[in-house]
Amino acid sequence: MSGELATPAQTIRFGSGIRYELAAEVRQLDRHHALVLSTPEQSEIALDVAKRLGVMASGVYSGATMHTPVDITEDALKYAASVGVDCLVSVGGGSTTGLGKALSIRMGLPHISIPTTYAGSEATPILGETADGVKSTFSDPAVLPSVVLYDPDLLVSLPQHMTVTSGLNAMAHAVEALYAKNRTVETTRLAIEGLEAFRQALPDVVKDPKDIKAREMTLRGAWACGSVLGRVGMALHHKLCHTLGGSFDLPHAAIHAIMLPHATAFNEVSVPDLLAPVATMFDAEKSGQALWRFASDLGAPLALKDLGLRESDLDQAANLATTNPYWNPRQIDHNGIRSLLQDAWNGTAPM
Ligand code: NAD
Repeated sequence: MSGELATPAQTIRFGSGIRYELAAEVRQLDRHHALVLSTPEQSEIALDVAKRLGVMASGVYSGATMHTPVDITEDALKYAASVGVDCLVSVGGGSTTGLGKALSIRMGLPHISIPTTYAGSEATPILGETADGVKSTFSDPAVLPSVVLYDPDLLVSLPQHMTVTSGLNAMAHAVEALYAKNRTVETTRLAIEGLEAFRQALPDVVKDPKDIKAREMTLRGAWACGSVLGRVGMALHHKLCHTLGGSFDLPHAAIHAIMLPHATAFNEVSVPDLLAPVATMFDAEKSGQALWRFASDLGAPLALKDLGLRESDLDQAANLATTNPYWNPRQIDHNGIRSLLQDAWNGTAPM
């Protein structure tokens, strides 16, 4: 196992109401003109955050969109130039964090992230951007936000289905970290911690979305899972999700939720020992099956057909997923992946 990648220091703070410390964090960075970013759906939260920043808020840009389209970034850059900005504040899920990262690296400005989903982008130096319908991803330590404020109060409004799929999305980073080629003792410890946090707290927040203690535990899980995503290479599961998301325009977190048990079961054949912590924490014999049961009990989507993928698309999906594959602990072949995709399309439990 190789050593951990060095990442620049990040200030990470957790707590109910921690978003109200934003002004102090902006001052700590010696900045005075923040641009607050959000999606159109979360513009109200962004306006509230800006209001609390008072004169330190230069403006609000609420155009963040899934997959960080470059034309949106350029539009936001124009807006930033028109209002005068010396730091960025993103309030939202991976889409908004992505816009914060894209602006931060282009403008050379610090970025404070206030995450409102479990996607984990705030903990990685990775940025995926879309230009002319093609998504390309790079990793650069300068992309990492300087400060992350994890406020569980902001997760209360996350719809139930997003809570479940986003939690499983985070868990997928940790599962793949367990068998990553460049894993370390530290990344394995973090991955298990992240998985354990979601195993314990995700059922609680599904039962009671306002359970702030459980929400905070899920956010701690999101940090751990996002951290390992930024430190080790991802494998088959992420390749399948990128293929299905990119080529068939399916929703990001829901694909992760559906594919995770199947990709895990596929790899478990080759590395049962590395995936054993997952089976153990669920008190099950097999990790893939345990994850499928967990997802099913939480009411997660289980079938690709329910996301609108046609059965006739499965051959093409298998071709794309086996072309330029990511490194994977188990040999990938077209028939094996086609059969895995069929199970995921049907929504049947993995063997
Ligand atoms: P998202 O950011 O696209 O959010 C989905 C929807 O939920 C949006 O309308 C958003 O406004 C809304 N929403 C988010 N939080 C909410 C809340 N608390 N209450 C109410 N509504 C809320 O979803 P996501 O799954 O977090 O992010 C997906 C994107 O992030 C993808 O583009 C993916 O590629 C990217 N991503 C990047 C990394 C990375 O390391 N670069 C990691 C994970 C995900």
